[in-house]
Amino acid sequence: MISENLQKTKQQLSENVTLVAVSKTKPVSDLMEAYNAGQRIFGENYVQELVDKQPLLPDDVEWHFIGHLQSNKVKYIASFVSLIHGVDSLKLLKEIDKQAKKHNRIIDCLLQIHIAEEETKFGLDEEELDKMLKQVQNDKDTFQNVKIIGLMGMATFTDDENQIKKEFQYLKSVFDTYKKLKTENFQPTTLSMGMSGDYKIAIECGSTMIRIGSNIFGKRSPTPKGDI
Ligand SMILES: *Cc1c(COP(=O)(O)O)cnc(C)c1O
Repeated sequence: MISENLQKTKQQLSENVTLVAVSKTKPVSDLMEAYNAGQRIFGENYVQELVDKQPLLPDDVEWHFIGHLQSNKVKYIASFVSLIHGVDSLKLLKEIDKQAKKHNRIIDCLLQIHIAEEETKFGLDEEELDKMLKQVQNDKDTFQNVKIIGLMGMATFTDDENQIKKEFQYLKSVFDTYKKLKTENFQPTTLSMGMSGDYKIAIECGSTMIRIGSNIFGKRSPTPKGDI
């Protein structure tokens, strides 16, 4: 089932849209099934779960961290994570840089922008984004081991397609504005928006990376307890 779901999803994507298979709460056997069907990029939300799964899959898997990352947990994933989607504070970015340095790596990051109506979703507003980018630019010596390769956002969880569209269009416009301000460690090429329920709208609005879980792996059980 997983490999068919994967093929079905991929068939709808043009070459410039990257598919992240969101495998949180799913067993390694499910990930292997997707791997054997050709999937190489997996997205996980929980540090403990990611750390447990990473050694059990082949080395050419690209692991994306898509959840809310706490600064004190960066050290557990810094040696292997290939993209961190939800960076929304300078403190977190500094910690990623510090841990990346220890492993002599440059870790790619996306800055998360708050686009949903809900108060609970994480992310920066435009003013905070602006401030953060200025600080990153002004402090080049600190931020040598991170590269911001774009933005990420999550739309409101609603059936109202117009609302979702408005939010994705807004994120695309922010992305386009800041794309022009390229610097050494700000090289925005990636716009991560769209999940199982709204990826078609997201692609219409200019998404270059979609994060799909349930459409590939089926419904999820509740959030695991006992994260690190
Ligand atoms: C869980 C999750 C997804 C995938 O959600 P689906 O609706 O199952 O596709 C995408 N992005 C983030 C940030 C998530 O937490």
